[in-house]
Amino acid sequence: MKSYDIVVIPGDGIGPEVTRGVERILDEAGVQIRWIERHAGLAALERGGDVLPQETLDAIRETKVALKGPCTTPVGEGFSSVNVALRKRLDLYAAVRPVRTLPGVETRFEDVDLVVFRENTEGLYSGIESEITHGVVTSLKVATERACTRIARAAFRYAQTHRRRKVTVLHKANIMKLTDGLFLTCARRVHEEEYPDVGYAEMIIDAGCMKLVQDPSAFDVLLLENLYGDVVSDLCAGLVGGLGVVPGANVGDEYAVFEAVHGSAPDIAGKGVANPLALLMSAVMMLDYLAVLHGDEDLAKAGDRITSAYRRALADGDKTRDLGGRLDTEGFVQAITRRLSTESVTA
Ligand code: NAD
Repeated sequence: MKSYDIVVIPGDGIGPEVTRGVERILDEAGVQIRWIERHAGLAALERGGDVLPQETLDAIRETKVALKGPCTTPVGEGFSSVNVALRKRLDLYAAVRPVRTLPGVETRFEDVDLVVFRENTEGLYSGIESEITHGVVTSLKVATERACTRIARAAFRYAQTHRRRKVTVLHKANIMKLTDGLFLTCARRVHEEEYPDVGYAEMIIDAGCMKLVQDPSAFDVLLLENLYGDVVSDLCAGLVGGLGVVPGANVGDEYAVFEAVHGSAPDIAGKGVANPLALLMSAVMMLDYLAVLHGDEDLAKAGDRITSAYRRALADGDKTRDLGGRLDTEGFVQAITRRLSTESVTA
């Protein structure tokens, strides 16, 4: 199998525990990756650097692809989010989060199959906040035609290539007529002019959230601006078993960073009980991305073998505590590597 250089950012909290496990699983699946370890977040600060060191950005610009563990961002003080900064600096404008029911993970609904497309670079995450006068602060919501159009295009392109039936925009354009209004206008235009064969729907986000928890099958690909995408991603995670089972990709035109939707989980950090599955699923997304980028079928096959192995493990009841199982991180990693090495897995 061909070998690839990939940046790995272990991150903070449970990050190093889950990234180590994922590296071992990819290795067991026969994927040849030379991991180039770089740091971000508290881990980078502790090494005497910036939260997002230049050498980390340079390394990703070199390899084009990174696998990233979660990084801690203290609330309401100190540095701004390293995750937001990374997405902006590398122009990773699309957060793509597939949300699917897994075997052996009991949830309210069966057969949930959604994909969240979240705009990653503007909206209320633009970081333009100011104190107007004592006791009065503002935060500016930014929407540009360029960013709204390219995220809409990414969602429709995905829907078409993955044979999905519909893209639904969740918005609040009835209140934020200019910003959310522009988001809608751009989505409509991309639909009408470029992807008229893909289904299209619009829904006000509050009603959309209610509908999502009543009947997720009414949705397929969801298209949202930054803050709504952040919130709705976690809502969707709750439909399929929680944050431990939702992977993610932050993709731009040049670079891609793959990471789980969950954070650094300080409450369980260092206890060896974190679920590595969401990062593992993100790593499988990375293998699929590399397979297309390099025309390397072997990588896609390795991804299929890993997917098959973790689905079998879950179906057999081998799962971590957050999913109602009894395994710790190491036990779950072993449950997967055992199946990769001994079982005849089917793609
Ligand atoms: P969180 O996702 O870290 O944790 C929420 C809850 O889910 C906690 O109870 C945690 O124990 C549990 N959980 C999360 N991941 C889990 C896993 N893999 N296995 C088992 N249980 C898991 O969210 P939070 O507590 O709001 O945030 C903690 C820190 O992470 C904050 O500093 C936040 O800024 C940061 N964060 C980073 C990212 C990222 O790096 N992409 C994303 C979200 C939050």
